[in-house]
Amino acid sequence: MKILVLNCGSSSLKYQLIDMNNDAVLCSGLAERIGDAMGKITHKAFPGTDKQKVLTVEEPFKDHTAALGRCAGLITGGEAPVATPADIAAIGHRVVHGGEAFRQPTLITPEVVKAIKDFCSLAPLHNPAGLMGIEAATALFPGVKQAAVFDTAFHGTIPDYAYLFAIPFGLYQELGIRRYGFHGTSHGYVAKKLSQIIGKPFEQTSCVTVHLGNGCSMAAVKNGQCVDTSMGLTPLMGLMMGTRSGDVDPSLHAFLAANKGYTIEQVDTLLNKESGLKGICGLNDMRDIHSAREKGDKKAELALKMFCYRVKHYIGAYLAALDGCDAVVFTAGIGENDPDVRQYSCDTLGAVGVKIDRDRNFGFKRGEVCKISTDDSPVAIYVIPTNEELEIATQTASLLGSK
Ligand code: AMP
Repeated sequence: MKILVLNCGSSSLKYQLIDMNNDAVLCSGLAERIGDAMGKITHKAFPGTDKQKVLTVEEPFKDHTAALGRCAGLITGGEAPVATPADIAAIGHRVVHGGEAFRQPTLITPEVVKAIKDFCSLAPLHNPAGLMGIEAATALFPGVKQAAVFDTAFHGTIPDYAYLFAIPFGLYQELGIRRYGFHGTSHGYVAKKLSQIIGKPFEQTSCVTVHLGNGCSMAAVKNGQCVDTSMGLTPLMGLMMGTRSGDVDPSLHAFLAANKGYTIEQVDTLLNKESGLKGICGLNDMRDIHSAREKGDKKAELALKMFCYRVKHYIGAYLAALDGCDAVVFTAGIGENDPDVRQYSCDTLGAVGVKIDRDRNFGFKRGEVCKISTDDSPVAIYVIPTNEELEIATQTASLLGSK
């Protein structure tokens, strides 16, 4: 069975065609600058194998349907991995916000599309892009089943005392203001992977998952169910990120309005685009921050320390919330590739049972699963590469009665 996974941004479209018999990626690609004067597709057939072929297409795409139409010509036909669209069993879409309605992967119907539209008010930057992907796939792959896999779904088990904000309760009832959490596909994938690695049923596995990429979030998973996560109503809350502040004093809007005359919109832009690592040292990519530190840049050093302190702070909080934890799991771009961040984030956690092994942490081969805690650490520490596309494909396949 072959599943096509689509992940749309406002001007981009990522895809992977996965063979569910062996989890192999048959092709993958990225269409960028959709809607611009010139767009670009980078398509890889049989990536990572000796049959790999990379193709680039440069031409304008007026919308997501035009871009996906061009991609469809690369995914199916002649020498492509599948001959016709009919060889694709289903299409799985990453949809960011499913509100309180969607806690499971869901087959797309007109009612589901309407509900995703209704949640655009909660994710104005993300849900419209998901809808464009659904619209494009409906036009180009008529008759192929489609599923929505929601970023918020894994967090649907968080109890009310953890997801509510301490503001008038009526605002939750009227507008749905609460913690939803994001990156759920990634947190769920690495938590399940951990249960396989340690040989425990998922329903008995408890862990803290630490997703550190462009966006950063953490989740506390107790006996296979998410019980807390660091992002909130929007993906701005929680950890410090590349350009996002994470947690700040909620009075900041009023303070900046009173003292600098900022509008709500200006503060929103400041917190989302000008803050985080970038706000402290001017750089938002962790690799650049390390290069700057090596040249003696004190602000880059401070940004790194702040970033790791926040991770440590949340690990401590989630260990307390879990009351028993098998492992802390690092994943995503920074979590998988940056031993310094892992070392600083765990270095004083020995007293609460999380003991990192320096040699293991710095010594392992990237891209592989690795245990980086000491043998006597009560709570293990793992690095587990995330694979959101495979998780979306697996969840989509599960709706068809397979996997
Ligand atoms: P992701 O969103 O998971 O693709 O992560 C992207 C981020 O991972 C980038 O912005 C970098 O900050 C970070 N990253 C990627 N590779 C490395 C690396 N080798 N060392 C440190 N950070 C990295």
